[in-house]
Amino acid sequence: MDNAASTPVHEKVVEEMIPFFKEQYGNPSSIHKYGRLANLAIQNARKRIADMINADSNEILLTSGGTESNNTAIYGIAYQSKGKHVITSSIEHDAILEPCKRLEKEGCRISYLPVDKYGLVNPENLKNEISDETCLITIMYANNEVGTIQPIKEIARIAQKNKIPFHTDAVQAVGKTTIDVREIGVDLLSISSHKINGPKGVGALYIRNGIKISPLILGGGQERGLRSGTENVANIVGFGMACKLAKDSMTDNIAHYKKLTTKLVSRIINEISCTTLNGHPDKRIPNNTHFTFLGVSGEDLIIKLDESKIAASTGSACSVRVQKASHVLKAMGFSHEQITGSLRLTVGIINSEEEIDKTVDVLKQVVQELRVVSPYKSKYNF
Ligand SMILES: *Cc1c(COP(=O)(O)O)cnc(C)c1O
Repeated sequence: MDNAASTPVHEKVVEEMIPFFKEQYGNPSSIHKYGRLANLAIQNARKRIADMINADSNEILLTSGGTESNNTAIYGIAYQSKGKHVITSSIEHDAILEPCKRLEKEGCRISYLPVDKYGLVNPENLKNEISDETCLITIMYANNEVGTIQPIKEIARIAQKNKIPFHTDAVQAVGKTTIDVREIGVDLLSISSHKINGPKGVGALYIRNGIKISPLILGGGQERGLRSGTENVANIVGFGMACKLAKDSMTDNIAHYKKLTTKLVSRIINEISCTTLNGHPDKRIPNNTHFTFLGVSGEDLIIKLDESKIAASTGSACSVRVQKASHVLKAMGFSHEQITGSLRLTVGIINSEEEIDKTVDVLKQVVQELRVVSPYKSKYNF
């Protein structure tokens, strides 16, 4: 129940990758047959990645994942622009916020747009922040903690009107909603393979034709000079297959996610008192649910669920290690108590309805156990 953190590699993806560890091990830059075959495999994968978001192959920069794609977009644009101002939101993934912090140290001004209680950015606030100095707008497509989908087309239109490059971190949105880069009017878009049943350590940055970025990694000139280094062929091939599968089965997958999350939400809200669903009621990715169980700690819930072999999360897998309160929930105006009692459950293609029922049954039990000893017991009368 933690598919927003990662997903298993699809069997068909594994099959597609194996030859590239064995007989087809050539360096894609080599002139001989082994090299040419590896190069061809990358071209095919690039086409599959591009097709998933309606881009051209030559607009796909292959990276090591969502984090590198975000870093490349931010530094790549900022380092070749005259402007010294970036606009982002207060609920971004750390792979956006940390590069922004570094730019800030280097003298760039960063505006962090606020969000409402659902985690939505108001496009009017974006308009008000734009200045002559603004060189980049980066706002995520769907939030990784609460699942809220931003008014991305409206944001893109504002950026376009003001001739400012617009980047979106679409890592959580890919495969969960149709993404058409032409229709949105976005200039740069980040994707990660391991969130869509592909291997870890590979991803892509869509860079619209005509947008110039400054490379971060220099060397042999691979990826048209934008990211040097011998390509991770097997991973790229796997990522390509994961994109093809995600595109071909998107309608079925979304129906599956909706069936599971609808059941999960309705059972939890109806059967466990003093519980709320966080994020937007309908502007959300179909596989995400995020709850607050008043009077208990989300971390205690994770440990208890883990004892029953159920994997859950309080939010971002990346910030759990440093044990800080969610900046996303803070930005949404949540109290310390609400933040503490939060739990994220995200489904994937691997999950079944039986697993949903088991999760709710276990959750009911452990929430009740924890509430009996909760210091808030008398406050809520659970
Ligand atoms: C997972 C995630 C990332 C990081 O992607 P990696 O491929 O793990 O580096 C970035 N942004 C969001 C919204 C994510 O969910």
